[in-house]
Amino acid sequence: MMDKDIITVTSPLLPDLEDFNAMLREIWNSKWITNNGSFHKRFEQALCEYLKVPYISVFTNGTLPLLTALQSMRITGEVITTPYSFVATTHSLWWNGIKPVFVDIDPATGGIDPDKIEAAITPQTTAIMPVHVYGKPCRTREIQDIADKYGLRVIYDAAHAFGIEVDGKSILTEGDLSTLSFHATKVFNTIEGGALVMHDAETKQRIDHLKNFGFVSETDVVAPGINGKMDEVRAAFGLLNLEQVDAAIEARHQVAIRYREALRPVEGITFWDDMPGVRHNYSYFPIFVDATTYGMTRDQLYFKMREHGVLGRRYFYPLISDFSTYRGLPSARRENLPQATRMAESVICLPMHHELTDADIERILNCIVR
Ligand SMILES: *Cc1c(COP(=O)(O)O)cnc(C)c1O
Repeated sequence: MMDKDIITVTSPLLPDLEDFNAMLREIWNSKWITNNGSFHKRFEQALCEYLKVPYISVFTNGTLPLLTALQSMRITGEVITTPYSFVATTHSLWWNGIKPVFVDIDPATGGIDPDKIEAAITPQTTAIMPVHVYGKPCRTREIQDIADKYGLRVIYDAAHAFGIEVDGKSILTEGDLSTLSFHATKVFNTIEGGALVMHDAETKQRIDHLKNFGFVSETDVVAPGINGKMDEVRAAFGLLNLEQVDAAIEARHQVAIRYREALRPVEGITFWDDMPGVRHNYSYFPIFVDATTYGMTRDQLYFKMREHGVLGRRYFYPLISDFSTYRGLPSARRENLPQATRMAESVICLPMHHELTDADIERILNCIVR
């Protein structure tokens, strides 16, 4: 298989090089290349408008907002979270000296199952960290009710939830804080990057201080902060990508329509339809393989696709709780996580990006439809 024949799972959204060059010229002329420059400010402003959120603080990647969110709320002890995510979710707890407590998922959303949260609460529990996995909204109302009842914080890892709205309202305003990732593989990217979304100006200021080492003035540091700042070059890149992200999302939507049409009649393959009232971002297209009715296991299909140069991904497999580093935790036992285990063992994310051609889609579907 030649490289050019390979269909990758994703492809980064890139700004027009001429447009980017014009912005680089501006940055070069100003000689202000990082530390809250004008592009950083413009980017935050533009993101607030696009995402319909009141306050945002952009970061140099999507993991630092998770670490900083936990620090800013002084979260300690135990935090209830999902094993069905990218490892950074759990890592952020560990790096804050917090014990992760895994709770099973709701197979209807892929997110944490609110019905299982209460049983996992102990006197050490201080917060819940759910994930809107694949950009599918968690059952946020029920999660908030539990948090209110037990006095817990809710920090959403919303790395996949760029632009997701429920009944016209951004999902990023749920909970106390939400984090985003603008990594190259995400639906909206700044090469590397991320953000924290918050409700009020005081929290934004506190987080802006924390991402700049805790400096509040030239001569005082009020908290043990970190360096999480986004530079001017990537803020400019983000401003340009923001102008074309709607077109990219619409192109992905068209791919999803084609996939659903072709896969609906296939026995043993299931997938999710759009949810009523939700603006989706089509960041991923997960399918679930039932080996008995499909006649092939997930891994057999996955490797067959690879043989045909179609690089799907087994997101999320293995579960975070199955990695050697977390396997020893009491909540990591598979009996505790049957739905997450099932989903991890049956999922393949099909290639999904704005540049897939009709021929690509046909080749992908030819591997699956029989
Ligand atoms: C991508 C991702 C992150 C981390 O983002 P980076 O920008 O790669 O640091 C965190 N959580 C989830 C669920 C992700 O998919």
